[in-house]
Amino acid sequence: MPHPTIEEFGEECTAFLEANARPRASRRGFTWGEGDDSVALFEEIDPAEEQRQLAAAKEWRARRFDAGLGWISGPDAHGGRELSPAHERLYATLEARYDVPSQSFFGIGLGMVAPTIQAHGTPEVRHAYLGPMYRGDVVACQLFSEPGAGSDLAGLTTRAERDGDEWLITGQKVWTSGAQYSDIGEIICRTDPDQPKHRGLTGFVVDMCTTGVDVRPLRQMTGGATFNEVFFSEVRVPDSHRLGDVNGGWDVALTTLMNERASIGGASGGGLSAASTTRLAALLGHLGLAEDPVYRQELMRVHIAMRVANLTNQRALDKIKAGQVPGPELSTAKLALTRNLTAVAQLVSGALGARLTADTGEWGTYAWTQFLLGTPGYRIAGGSDEVLRNIVGERVLGLPKEPGDNAKAPFRDTLKN
Ligand SMILES: Cc1cc2nc3c(=O)[nH]c(=O)nc-3n(C[C@H](O)[C@H](O)[C@H](O)COP(=O)(O)OP(=O)(O)OC[C@H]3O[C@@H](n4cnc5c(N)ncnc54)[C@H](O)[C@@H]3O)c2cc1C
Repeated sequence: MPHPTIEEFGEECTAFLEANARPRASRRGFTWGEGDDSVALFEEIDPAEEQRQLAAAKEWRARRFDAGLGWISGPDAHGGRELSPAHERLYATLEARYDVPSQSFFGIGLGMVAPTIQAHGTPEVRHAYLGPMYRGDVVACQLFSEPGAGSDLAGLTTRAERDGDEWLITGQKVWTSGAQYSDIGEIICRTDPDQPKHRGLTGFVVDMCTTGVDVRPLRQMTGGATFNEVFFSEVRVPDSHRLGDVNGGWDVALTTLMNERASIGGASGGGLSAASTTRLAALLGHLGLAEDPVYRQELMRVHIAMRVANLTNQRALDKIKAGQVPGPELSTAKLALTRNLTAVAQLVSGALGARLTADTGEWGTYAWTQFLLGTPGYRIAGGSDEVLRNIVGERVLGLPKEPGDNAKAPFRDTLKN
């Protein structure tokens, strides 16, 4: 198929969106008092409703994919269009003007697992999963963290032992977002306990429906249960589902983590979608604070920080899409996100005061409670603020390593001493 120019592509996208979705009531994206007032970050949601939303999300992705708009910059061999990042961005901008089902179910799969499969998967795994992931038929989760290994990921203990052409996985993962509806997971396991900890790891793609996989939900303080404990009891994975070399799992994990930082930061770095500046301004107006000089100043600070984060992330994402390996500087994208979320939370708490603690039914006020309770999770997920600052300090700015008795010991052991 010939490559369309940006103008031709814009017309194609608009024709698709006009035929398949309804334009948003407000093109500005937000009108005070209109529609659902949720600004939840880790929303409490009934499992049946979650299934309904997942089905709608899958249906929309399939429609996009079948129209040639599911993986705009992806390779032809896996259903992609091989167009430029600018084409991809244009579609996203145009789609944002229409009411389409939330695509958050695919964030981890497409933002982190798919790029890792593309970089490290066997041809069989790439063929089996990439197209179906972009079509929404296969949803993926990230099985990295364990009860004893979070920031110190390389200390993980879930084992994978070779058994002919297969591997047997045994152990426990935790905080696995979306495991409850995922079809596959990217898992990092210990394959050689005698190697130094970063060198004895291997990555795999595991089918979440395999016998021996047990997913148990964890309740968060927002009331939602968006993440889980996942137990593995001698789960069989074919060797063809290995990612990268045996004992080369650290490189595989880094590919995912750098994409994670870019996509967590990039997805919301500027917009924080629900918490847009337009919405914040409307909230201040509703509360009679629009002319208050302190709130006005704070609002502009938040607005500028979001714009800067947005543009920085855009540059980083373009680099990734142009085939360059994401670097440690992407840690700043996630740091910017959490800083912006915290600034929004502070602005809103000051403005709303007691309205945050009691639900009077007033539109767009108590709803912010879920946002506030969800914000701290972002300071931990995808690398905690402290760890990311260490990375930026040491690997981007070239500062000396943190002083400590034993630089090789996990941080938690240092704390005990
Ligand atoms: C909302 C949410 C979703 C998540 N989703 C997933 C998922 O889908 N898949 C997955 O695998 N994991 C997921 N996680 C787990 C997340 O990656 C870990 O929580 C994170 O890596 C931190 O690990 P930990 O919880 O074990 O804390 P620890 O590593 O034990 O850290 C405890 C505290 O010590 C600090 N600390 C640790 N090391 C250092 C150091 N070297 N220097 C300074 N301070 C340090 C940390 O900043 C933190 O404050 C999720 C977490 C959250 C909150």
